[in-house]
Formats: sequence, structure tokens, C-alpha cells
Amino acid sequence: MKHSEIFGASVFNENNFKQYLNKESFNSLIEVIDKGNKMSRALADQIAAAMKSWALSKGATHYSHWFQPLTGATAEKHDAFFDITVDGFPLEKFDGAELVQQEPDASSFPSGGIRNTFEARGYTAWDPTSPAFIFDTTLCIPTIFVSYTGEALDYKTPLLKSIASLDQAATSVCKYFDKNVSKVYPTLGWEQEYFLIDKSLIDSRPDLKMTGRTLLGHGSSKGQQLSDHYFGSIPNRVLEFMKELEFECLRLGIPVKTRHNEVAPSQFELAPIFEEVNLSVDHNSLLMDIMHKVAYKHDLEVLFHEKPFNGINGSGKHNNWSLATNTGVNLLSPGKTPMSNLQFLTFFINTVSAVLDHEELLIAATSSASNDLRLGANEAPPAILSVFIGEQLTKVIEDLENVSKGKLSPEEKTDLKLNVIGKIPEILLDNTDRNRTSPFAFTGNKFEFRAVGSKANCAKPMTFLNAMVAEKLISFKIKVDSLVDGKNMKKDDAIFNILRDQIKEIKPILFEGDGYSDIWVKEAKKRNLSHNKSTPEALSAYLFEKSVSLFSSLNILSQREIEARYIVDLEEYTMRIQIEARTLGDISRNHIIPTAINYQNTLIENVRGLKEIYGNDFKKYAKEQMLIIERISGHVSAINSGVNSMIDSRKKANEISDHQNKAMEYSKQVLTKMDPIRYHCDKLELLVDNTLWPLAKYRELLFSC
Ligand code: ADP
Ligand code: MG
Repeated sequence: MKHSEIFGASVFNENNFKQYLNKESFNSLIEVIDKGNKMSRALADQIAAAMKSWALSKGATHYSHWFQPLTGATAEKHDAFFDITVDGFPLEKFDGAELVQQEPDASSFPSGGIRNTFEARGYTAWDPTSPAFIFDTTLCIPTIFVSYTGEALDYKTPLLKSIASLDQAATSVCKYFDKNVSKVYPTLGWEQEYFLIDKSLIDSRPDLKMTGRTLLGHGSSKGQQLSDHYFGSIPNRVLEFMKELEFECLRLGIPVKTRHNEVAPSQFELAPIFEEVNLSVDHNSLLMDIMHKVAYKHDLEVLFHEKPFNGINGSGKHNNWSLATNTGVNLLSPGKTPMSNLQFLTFFINTVSAVLDHEELLIAATSSASNDLRLGANEAPPAILSVFIGEQLTKVIEDLENVSKGKLSPEEKTDLKLNVIGKIPEILLDNTDRNRTSPFAFTGNKFEFRAVGSKANCAKPMTFLNAMVAEKLISFKIKVDSLVDGKNMKKDDAIFNILRDQIKEIKPILFEGDGYSDIWVKEAKKRNLSHNKSTPEALSAYLFEKSVSLFSSLNILSQREIEARYIVDLEEYTMRIQIEARTLGDISRNHIIPTAINYQNTLIENVRGLKEIYGNDFKKYAKEQMLIIERISGHVSAINSGVNSMIDSRKKANEISDHQNKAMEYSKQVLTKMDPIRYHCDKLELLVDNTLWPLAKYRELLFSC
């Protein structure tokens, strides 16, 4: 079957609405979606009835509010349509009230102290901008999730608010250029990287099961050095998985398009056609769920962790971001006329300027225990934010920087329009130098934010980015208007003037060189760009006065909500490292040491036998064995004392009640104790009889498909 024929078959989309609702109701619904109008109870009832009959006709038996709590996973609680009336009649029931709002117990979701246990209830409320879909036999209704007192407990609520703020700010700036623009929405096209590993091998690894990454394991003799995996032919077993996955995705309306092998062995990537950001975020969360389920059927397991294997490339999730208008224009794509290019430059420069203002916050949005291991490794940019714009745009902004102050002469304006902004589309066309080492790169018609981790929910970085660009556009508009009104300047003169000032300011964040090099780390320091190497340090940016003001002034997150998120993220960090430390302690003590001793006993037996045969001459024959026996003892004792010391540090850290200090202690005192333990375990892996080794090795894990 053609992909276009199955696309969206399991989605209750606009066509279904049209089919099931009368014209008046349909129009009211569109008002609700486009303008955020309140939905009447009668309309909700009609929609619920429509969804119910559609879902039942597709074989659904249950419905569920589907939401994205701050755990990073999706959450759902299924209820059957099935009900029994007071008179004892069995029937299928689903009404407007059940569609619009539910009250799941929120006490087990992270809230950062917002939700007291005596108000354990939370509300989920329907998000009509993201369509309902049937997954397996459940009708899933995308919802926001808020506390009893109205604070956001999920990723979607602030994302939706950031989209609305950005719409408002960007639309009013667009009006300088085109009066027909009435809506601007951010677009997102993510690129999801992942590892696919044989399930039975994963089952032998408690570290992968518990933490999603290998806490020990010696590198295999062949890794990714030959680069023979990248864009190579996709292994059959993987291809079967991908085909089924794509079929499921298409039915659910996820417009998957690209699939290919990545750099590391067993690493792959999947990318869709871009969509409006809220929908795209939902689709990414849904995709990650589906991937686990489909992989399971193929006896495979998906690893989304950013750094599952030492010495092997990690996984990211590039977030391609742009702005689109209701008139079908991509605001970050150069246009055909000087005026549309001035519009392009306005949005382009304001975005870069926003990123400079909040660079530390934007990095914080990508920080997590797992992404810390990827950022700054050889295959990913360090946790320093810089923006790559390419040679040609660098030239354009250099020319614009020299624009005269105040009103422009007609000659200067003509020259600018013809020779600077008039030339943009041509030159961008051959803008092929894509700097892969930049965390935030302009790629011709969008920005590609590459620091986002593969495991992350895109909502957080997208919310932060939307918010900062909205804030910047608001201040841009105020400045331009004040020149127009106060100084009697022409609109385009005013825009040129403000852009010129902004260009002077954004210089420190622009970097075209190798973002992975040590030279850049030093240079960034000179430029006063932040470089927080660990999550607990990075997260402090949430509480900067300018961050709190950004979110609260735009009504995206209140101070209390941002503080709560700070705590949730710190706690998550601490718990992740705690689980890793416990798992490593457990594996090294219960799996590695006993195995090593077992093998050592075999060697001892051997030496004893040699002594029996050769008497005092035995050393001639047992020399190597005795050396290995000694080495094993050395490693065993190093592991044991390492684990003891790690446990001591953990106990100390656990006594700290301040969230920030505790996370810092885990980062500085516990995490750092894991490497030496691993070192000795990995040495033992090289010494001990392969048949005795209890864990699947890198060569098996990475070359299993
Ligand atoms: P690559 O970066 O791997 O060279 P492409 O440039 O073709 O690949 O696109 C990568 C991603 O960019 C895709 O997921 C695509 O959906 C997304 N993308 C393209 N245009 C836009 C846009 N205007 N807004 C958001 N994402 C976009
Ligand atoms: Mg890309």
C-alpha cells in the first residue's frame, strides 16, 4: 500500500471532524483551536460522541488521556468505553466531560514540591490542537497536566503558552512586512538517533536494563574507526523493524521520511517531515513509545540514552526549528524581494540575539545526567552555546553593520537593497558549508539545535527557545516603533538601525570554527560564554533573574513553576547517578568479582597441578599463570575498595537536604568514583576466560544485528 494511503488512518483528524460534526459545530471547534476560545459543554459532548463512534468503528475498546509529565516518559490511564446504566443495560459511553477533563492521581508524578499530598489530584485537560489517535485498542487524547491549584506539571502546558507568546510577538513584527499575516507558528523537525540491540543480549546486562547505558565493558577491537556503518546498507533485521515502525508511525499521522545508519555500529536515525512544534513534540514522544513496542516484537531493544557505550558515538536529537506564517512563508528562509529578505534578516538576527541573551538557559534546557556524557565528547559540541551562520551570511551582516546611524540616504538604501539583502537567496543556495560541530547552526532555512539529547522530550528546549525569541521580538518591536514614532523615521530605516545595533551585540555568540576544539573552549571563555560541564551547574540558569523574568513576564511559567522545575531536574539528576552507582556496585561485587575469583581458582588449580608434576621446577611452567593470579587479586581489591569508597560518598551525599548541593555532591563525589571501578572491571574482562564472563561484551552488543 502507498504510504499516502495509510497516513493518518488512526488519527481523528480535521476530515473526521467534518464528517461527524455539523457545519456550525465544526466552525466553533476551529475557533477553539485557532483562537483558543472556550469550548461549550454541548460542543464537547458532540465531539466526544463523534470520537466514540469513530473509535468503536476502528475496534477501540478504551480511551485515555495521554500526557507528558516531567518524568520524560508519556503517561496514560486507560478507561473502558464500556459501562452499565442504572437499569443494568451494558453500553459504550464517552461524553464531553470525559473528553475535556480528567482527574488522575498526581501524587506519583514529579512536581518539585508544588503538589502537596493532601491535594494529590491533578487535572488533565484536552489539547484540541493535537489530534486524538488510536494506539492499539485505545483512543488516546492528548492533554495538558496541571495541579489542583493550576500549576503546570507537564511539558505541554508551558510549550503551548510559549507558542502563543511567540505567535503574538512574531505576528506583530510580520505586520511591518505583510499585513496579511495573522498567525505565526514555530515548526520543528527532529532527527531521532538511537541504538538497536538484540534483546537477549541486553537481558544479560543489568546496567543497560537499569540505567540505559553500559557502566562497564571493554571496547571491542573494532568499533567505529572504519566508519563503515554510516549510511551503509541497513541490516535485514533492522530493516524489518524499520518497515513495521514506519507503518505504525504513518497510521498515527507521524510523517516519517528519512531512515539511515548512523556513525556508530548499531546506531540509526529516523527523521520526519517537520510540523507545527506542539504536534511535532507529541509525535516524537509517541514515536519513542512505538519504537519500544515494535522493537520488542523483533526481539530487539531500542536505546535512547545519549551515551550507551564508552568510546562510541552517542545519540542526539537535532531540533530543526523555524517560524512559519499562515500565509505559507518560512520566516527563516530568504525570499525573492529585498523586503522579504529584510523580513528574513529581522527574524534571523532576532533569533541569534535571543540565543545570546539566554545562552546559559538554552544549554540548561538540554542538560541531564545522560546528556552530560555526550556533550563535550568527540562527536558532540561541548556545553558551550555558539551559533554558526556560514560565510555568506557573515558577509551580509558585516555589510549591514556599516549602515549609517539615523535616516539612510536614498543611495545607501538602494545599494543595501540591491547589493546586500537583494543577494541573499542566490548566495544561500550554494551555502554548502555546514558546520557539524556547532550546537546551533543556521542551515539555510532553519536553525538546527544539536545539543538536545536523544532521550529528551523536545518540549523543554523548544519552550525555552520560543520564549526567548518572543521576548526578543517584543523588545525589537518597541525599539523600531519608538524610532518610527519618536524620530519620525521610515519603517525600513528604523529596522535597519535596530538590526545594525543588534549585529554589533551578537558577535560573541557567532562562531564558525571547530566547536570540538580546545581552542574554542579557551576562546569562548574570553568571550564570556558559559561552560557548565555538569547538569547541577547548568541548571542554575533556571533561577537567573533574567530567566525568571522571561518566563513570568510572558506568562509561560510562574516563578513557583520554574523553581519547581529546577528541583525536579536536580532530583532527577541525583536519582540517575544514584541508580548508576548502585547498579555498578552491584554488578562489580556480585557479577565481576565472583567471576574473577572463579577464574583465579582455575588458575590456582592449574598451578597446583603443575607443582605436583614438576615439583620445585614448577615455576618455570607456572610463571604467567601466577602473574595473572596476582593481577586478578590486584583488580579485585581495587574494585572492592573503590565500591566501598563510592558507597561512603553516596551516604554522605544522601545526608544533604539542599537539592543543588546534593546533586553537586553526586556529580563531584559519586560519579567520579565510578570510572576507576569500571577501569578495573574492564581490565578483568581482558584477563578472565571468555566463557565465564557473565555480561554480553561490546563486540556482541554492537554487532548483533
Ligand atoms: P540534514 O540536517 O540531515 O542534512 P535536512 O536538512 O534535509 O537534513 O532536514 C533535517 C530536518 O530538518 C528534517 O527533520 C526536516 O523535517 C527538518 N526541517 C526542514 N525544514 C524545516 C523547517 N522549516 N522547520 C523545521 N524543521 C525543518
Ligand atoms: Mg541534521
